[in-house]
Amino acid sequence: MTNYMGIDIGGTNMKGLILNDKHAALSNVCVPSCSQEGSERVCKQMFFLIEQLLAQSGLSPQEITRICIGIPGHWDKKKKVLCHCSNLPLENIPFVENIEKHYGLPVITTNDANAATWGEYMLGAGQGSTNMLFVTISTGIGAGAIINHKLFTGSSGNALELGHITIEQNGRLCSCGNHGCAELYASGSAIAKAAEYMRFSLDNNITAENVFQAAADGNSKACFIIRDAMHSLGACLSVAAELFDPDIIVVGGGLAKAGPQVLNAIKTGIRERCAKPIANNTQIKLSQLGDNAGVYGAALLAAND
Ligand SMILES: [Zn+2]
Repeated sequence: MTNYMGIDIGGTNMKGLILNDKHAALSNVCVPSCSQEGSERVCKQMFFLIEQLLAQSGLSPQEITRICIGIPGHWDKKKKVLCHCSNLPLENIPFVENIEKHYGLPVITTNDANAATWGEYMLGAGQGSTNMLFVTISTGIGAGAIINHKLFTGSSGNALELGHITIEQNGRLCSCGNHGCAELYASGSAIAKAAEYMRFSLDNNITAENVFQAAADGNSKACFIIRDAMHSLGACLSVAAELFDPDIIVVGGGLAKAGPQVLNAIKTGIRERCAKPIANNTQIKLSQLGDNAGVYGAALLAAND
C-alpha cells in the first residue's frame, strides 16, 4: 500500500491530507498559516501540519511516497522556491528543500489553482470529462485546465493566469503591473471595492457576499455592482472557453457560494460571445469539493508524478 501527502497553503490556513492509493483519506488536518508573523513562523506551521498528519494517520515518513505542496503563487520549478506570492512571506525561502531533507521524502510543488483543477477532475465535478476548465473566483481569479485528461500547466508551470488577462485596454493598474486585468473587475475584491467606491453602505468591512445579499434583496446600487462584475466575469470566461473549447467549466472559490448568479453570468457571457458549437457544448457546474479541491488535488498530484 502506498500513501501520498497533499498540502494546500493559503494566506489564512494551511490544509493537509494523506491519501492511500484507493483515494481514501487517512488523515486530514487544517492549521492557521500565521502569514502575518513572518516566514519562520509559516515554515514552523508547515512542519507542525506534517507532524499532525503523520500522527493522525499512524504512518511514519517512510510510508509516504511523495508530498505535493500547492501555493497561490509562481514557482521557480528548478530551484523549488516561490518567486512570487502576494499573501505569504515565502519568496526565495528554501522550505521545500528543508522538508525534503528533514523527512527524506521527495517533494513536488504546484500552483494552488492547478491542484484544485486536478482535484475536481479526479474526484469532483469534472469527473468523466476530457477537456475541463476550472476557475476559482475569490479575492482574485485563478484557473487551470485539463486537456485530453492531462493537467496543462504551460512551459513555466504558470498557465491560465485568467485573472490577469486584459479585459479593459485602458483600465486600472493591477498589482501585477498590467492595466485592466479581469480580476480588477470580476473578483470578490473588485465587488467589495466597487461597493466602497459607490458608498453603498456605511459599513467599512463590506464584502462581496454582503453585496450579493443586498442585490438579492433588491438594493439597486448592489444590483448594478453585481451586474457589472458578472458581465466582466462572463467576458473573461468566454475568452477561456474560446481558447480551450472545454466539455465543462467548473466554478469554485468564495464567489461560487453565490451559486446561480455566478453560473448564469458565465453561461450568458459564453452564449453571447463564443462560437455556437462552443456555447452549445460547454457545461458550467459548481465545484463539488469546494474549499478542499486544492488539498485533494495536491495529494492526487503527489500520486500522479
Ligand atoms: Zn493583473
